[in-house]
Amino acid sequence: MKLSLVAPCYNEEGNVRLFCEEAGKILAGYDYEIVFINDGSKDGTLKVLRELYAEKKEQMTIINFSRNFGKEAGLYAGLQHAKGDYVVIIDTDLQQPIEVAREMMDFLEEHPEYDEVAAYQEERKEGKIMTAFKSAFYSMINKLCDVELYKNASDFRCMRRCVVDAILQMTEYHRFSKGIFAWIGFETYYRPYEVRERNAGTTSWSFWKLVNYALEGVISFSTKPLKMATKLGIGTSILAIMYMIVVIIQKLAFGIEIPGYPTIIVLILLIGGIQLTVLGIIGEYLAKMHIEVKNRPIYIAKNVWSYDEESDE
Ligand code: UDP
Ligand code: MG
Repeated sequence: MKLSLVAPCYNEEGNVRLFCEEAGKILAGYDYEIVFINDGSKDGTLKVLRELYAEKKEQMTIINFSRNFGKEAGLYAGLQHAKGDYVVIIDTDLQQPIEVAREMMDFLEEHPEYDEVAAYQEERKEGKIMTAFKSAFYSMINKLCDVELYKNASDFRCMRRCVVDAILQMTEYHRFSKGIFAWIGFETYYRPYEVRERNAGTTSWSFWKLVNYALEGVISFSTKPLKMATKLGIGTSILAIMYMIVVIIQKLAFGIEIPGYPTIIVLILLIGGIQLTVLGIIGEYLAKMHIEVKNRPIYIAKNVWSYDEESDE
């Protein structure tokens, strides 16, 4: 098998058939397979996938999750089952052109010095606020994290087997794939592509989901917030000591009556606020560790349909 397309699906009943047809046209003559992950879709995605499987058994794998585990878990499952020498991660909604997937593979064939090709959006087609927000996200995360994330590079990429194996070694439960891609290293070639409109259905990303995703990324790949919390604590302690010295001098040298009430209230509120913030930061890390040490599987597959795996049927 030469090429595997790993395509996660969540409520994509209107897209999977077209995706298969496009792949058939664009990859005609190539030895390829499509690994679909049905990530607990609530619509008829699985039914359509089963129909397609009946037609194109030898070119398809379906991993059917027991519930929605999220795209990142879907990608992990897809990479585990992909058999190709080259593996492309691609959305099922046809926003990412299959032509680009083919070009990325051809590029790797001609350039043995590169291990993977990642596509990035040259021009973001979302609203101005979203673009500004995402841009701020990249600068923040690159300041905070030990790994460098390439701006606007999504998970749309073509990898050689060695890269896939490296990703599969990263078995953490909280999977922030942008960070994982950066962390594993390898020679990556970045190429621009033009993102298309979603074919059918709606995006599953809301603004707050993106904010959470960004925070998840920082916590997964950086311990700097913890260091910042320590520094904040030390900073406030130094300020408090300095203020204490000033108060003592005022009292002893000038005998000034200390008008204490507002000062005390303000300081209590300030210090209390700082303490809660710092505790919150520690709590975020602790919560991640709590889930991580349980060592739960990244996903649960109810069925896998594949012509040579036959773990079901
Ligand atoms: N997806 C998934 N599980 C989820 C959410 C999304 O497998 O919980 C899939 C979805 O079917 C699509 C891809 O991930 O193929 C990207 O999702 P979406 O189009 O909603 O994101 P966007 O393109 O807006 O970033
Ligand atoms: Mg999309």
